[in-house]
Amino acid sequence: MHTEASLQRQLARYLGGYPPALRAQVARLVVEQRLAPHLAQRYPQRHAIRTDAALYDYALRLKQTYLRSSAPLHKVVWQNKMDVLQNVLGLHTTISRVQGGRLKAKAEIRVASLFKELAPEFLEMVVVHELAHLREFEHNKAFYQLCRHMLPAYGQIEFDLRLLLLQRALDAAPPG
Ligand SMILES: [Zn+2]
Repeated sequence: MHTEASLQRQLARYLGGYPPALRAQVARLVVEQRLAPHLAQRYPQRHAIRTDAALYDYALRLKQTYLRSSAPLHKVVWQNKMDVLQNVLGLHTTISRVQGGRLKAKAEIRVASLFKELAPEFLEMVVVHELAHLREFEHNKAFYQLCRHMLPAYGQIEFDLRLLLLQRALDAAPPG
């Protein structure tokens, strides 16, 4: 079990920008041990994309459907030890995307290995997120519009990913 303090800390970390009433609702789900079963029931499927090549094909298919005219996809790879909160749900550091004041001509997408074991909805969400960055560098309104264009349920899935990461963080925390 987690202490009230550690729960509040994790809630602030994963749902910091959300209204207190919503955080309280999520806290109740956690305390009543209903969050994990809720997520498992909502996202029962798994996908079989394991290799970088399979991930590249997957991203390319999405790109060809929605972003045909954007820069060619140079590389799409799985990456270990990537902070999903920082890279997908937080603010990106765009420095690596810009070199000498010029945009990199070749687009690279890195997807946290964590998404190998999550439901296909979350993989789609994160790939859509990275593809949207081919056009929009910041997490601004146009960026999220583009995400929703590729994946209408983007907002809901992103929120559920926050819940899932919260649950994982609580599961990983030492008892106390
Ligand atoms: Zn981003």
